[in-house]
Amino acid sequence: VPLIPLEEACAHVAERCVPMPVERVPTSAAPGLVLAESVVASEHLPPFDNTAVDGFAVQAADTAGAPVRLKVVGTVLAGQAGDRAVGAGEAIRIMTGAPMPPGADAVVMVEDTRVDGDEVEVHTSVSSGAALRRAGEDVQPGDEVLAPGALLGPAQVGILHSLGVRAVDVVRRARVGVLSTGDELVVGDAPLAPGQIRDSNRPALLAAVAEAGCEPVDLGCIPDDDAAIEAAFREGAASCDAILSSGGVSMGDVDLVKVVLDRIGDMRWMQIAIKPAKPFAFGVLRGGGGRAVPVFGLPGNPVSSLVSFELLARPALRAMMGHLAPGRTVVTAIAEDGLRRRADGKTHFVRVVVDANPPGRFVARSAGGQGSHQLGAMAQANGLAVLPDGDGVEPGGAALVMLLS
Ligand code: AMP
Ligand code: MG
Repeated sequence: VPLIPLEEACAHVAERCVPMPVERVPTSAAPGLVLAESVVASEHLPPFDNTAVDGFAVQAADTAGAPVRLKVVGTVLAGQAGDRAVGAGEAIRIMTGAPMPPGADAVVMVEDTRVDGDEVEVHTSVSSGAALRRAGEDVQPGDEVLAPGALLGPAQVGILHSLGVRAVDVVRRARVGVLSTGDELVVGDAPLAPGQIRDSNRPALLAAVAEAGCEPVDLGCIPDDDAAIEAAFREGAASCDAILSSGGVSMGDVDLVKVVLDRIGDMRWMQIAIKPAKPFAFGVLRGGGGRAVPVFGLPGNPVSSLVSFELLARPALRAMMGHLAPGRTVVTAIAEDGLRRRADGKTHFVRVVVDANPPGRFVARSAGGQGSHQLGAMAQANGLAVLPDGDGVEPGGAALVMLLS
């Protein structure tokens, strides 16, 4: 099998991952999802003229010769209707967010006043409109506040609530099943018999799936047994929108994932020109209702499996969920100690620690051992430096780094 460029593998995957359906959800359940409609305001925001500060609502003309004394004729708090009017020579005590009383056209902040009995001494002159927030100055009825494709984060959820939008059409969150394969794997903290290791890929991938904004589904730790692997994939296809497996896609005698996927699905086995994560199997299974369920057969080595997820599965899953920019942020970082490598025809993804020091100037250094089994270094890393084929980066040189967080 010839080595193929990462771009070719990604394109193969992207062509076979179908967008998730659109569903209507309560606005409170929308955080993290992508909007599938245009949201148009039907209300003004703010809904009424109100004060931006605590102070006194006045007629601005009265403050012209400040200091001046005005008669305090009432108080209006946030939440009150405030229909008492302000006449010439008068002021109404007013709290942030309270409606502007009729007649008043400016607010003097409390810091610029001194109360004296039933009068207030105003120390500065204000112009008409001072400290006033006009109805509709943020949003007008008919404004598109959010466009299709908007990622619903805190501010987006906030504006939807401030306009009374109770439900929105979003791209459904993908349910992503995760299984690990290997006779050597032990689940939990049971003592290890000779030759055994603990299953770390399944928990790591379940966490990665959740971080990507998908719903993780645990499909278990499966032995190197053809029938057991097939059963796990079929269960996943029936209940999930995508499946991730780890292990069983290399050249070993019991690398059965690719055997099973070849038999029950439409599978392509790839050797990608990257390090780590060279072997990769990608298949499509038929799920309930004939749905196409993509299966990512990730390599077993713990670092490979996470890097393979990052490069191949994560962007595809997020594109399925409607993300317009499904990839990680990539920055240019200075490798002060260099990031050396040997030419081998592959692009290397080196686990690095990135600091923004000073802010805006990214510096990257190796996170430690770069073996595909060395999860210890990956656990220190917050970036993957992309080193094209060649000798790498000399000390002080620059590298592109994918930020992992
Ligand atoms: P495989 O691709 O199945 O040949 O596995 C490659 C390497 O990754 C072997 O050293 C496995 O023991 C290790 N490995 C496979 N699956 C896991 C897992 N779930 N957790 C930790 N290590 C694993
Ligand atoms: Mg294995």
